[in-house]
Amino acid sequence: MQKPLHNFLILFVIGAALCFVIAIEAQVIVIPKVPTNQTITVGNQNSAPRQISQQINTTFNNLNNSPLSPASSSFAIAQNFTHRNGLKWNFGGKSQNGWFIYQPLITDLIEVDANADANAFAQGVARWQRRAGLFPNGIVDEITLSAMFKTWQSNRVYTVETATPAQLVHAPISDFYDPTRADDLLYVERETYNAYKKMVRAAVADKSLKLGANTSGELASTEPFMKIVSAFRSPEYQAKLRRASPNSGRAGLAMKSVHSSGRALDIYVGGEPVTTKDYNRAIQINTPVYRWLVKNAGKFGFKPYFYEPWHWEYAPETNNKVPPVIINTENN
Ligand SMILES: [Zn+2]
Repeated sequence: MQKPLHNFLILFVIGAALCFVIAIEAQVIVIPKVPTNQTITVGNQNSAPRQISQQINTTFNNLNNSPLSPASSSFAIAQNFTHRNGLKWNFGGKSQNGWFIYQPLITDLIEVDANADANAFAQGVARWQRRAGLFPNGIVDEITLSAMFKTWQSNRVYTVETATPAQLVHAPISDFYDPTRADDLLYVERETYNAYKKMVRAAVADKSLKLGANTSGELASTEPFMKIVSAFRSPEYQAKLRRASPNSGRAGLAMKSVHSSGRALDIYVGGEPVTTKDYNRAIQINTPVYRWLVKNAGKFGFKPYFYEPWHWEYAPETNNKVPPVIINTENN
């Protein structure tokens, strides 16, 4: 008799324990239903919900507009001040100093009109970093700079196919910077040319640029800014340019240039027309015409090549296959 009683007691204990666990589990997964027209209040009915709501709003605004704390912002400002001229990085086999040359493009990208040593700049960088999937420290460091370059590069012309004669228009010499330019170097891809002419008319209409123009709104013959320095280049002509400049490297003359598509325009933006030396690019990025192009060229379908302030490619939005911001964590 003792053994069956013992077994019964064991089964009873196990059964009771199972019921207890099931009851707890059921309690855990029950989600109380709150009617949609009611709100859950915490603490005092009048003040506490408002305080919590304000705290949530403040946190939300901080996350969206000012992601950096005062301490993080101070650190970012100091780092940006140093990196602006001193960050060492490599491009095209050449050692590069800082990112001050790309500052107009950076402020356009982060949608903040502020100096590199301003809190607004650091906060804007942090917001952009978060959108790009980077750690939002507000510092334009090598990783962030690389991600920015990749974003700009992703907006450029993809396929470099040589334009057919039917795709090209022969532009008048008055559109060109050099009035003695050879007649066979005046070709531009048709859509690119139409977009360029629209863009020039808009630039002329912007009186703050003080561009010399004739009565029909065309650039005056004496006005160098916004004129075309170089447009369509045949592969043969590109090869000739490379032979004449054998040490230009990857950052210099490309083997196969977008110019052969007729969709790239070198536009005069000041200084020496197409010299990549820092002193020259520092002049170019501070001209009103370059600043205007950074802000407005996109409206006409033109995208920048960050390294050459004069080089713009006709790549209207419809052709963009890559999102404007890309996730990048590598360092190159
Ligand atoms: Zn070019």
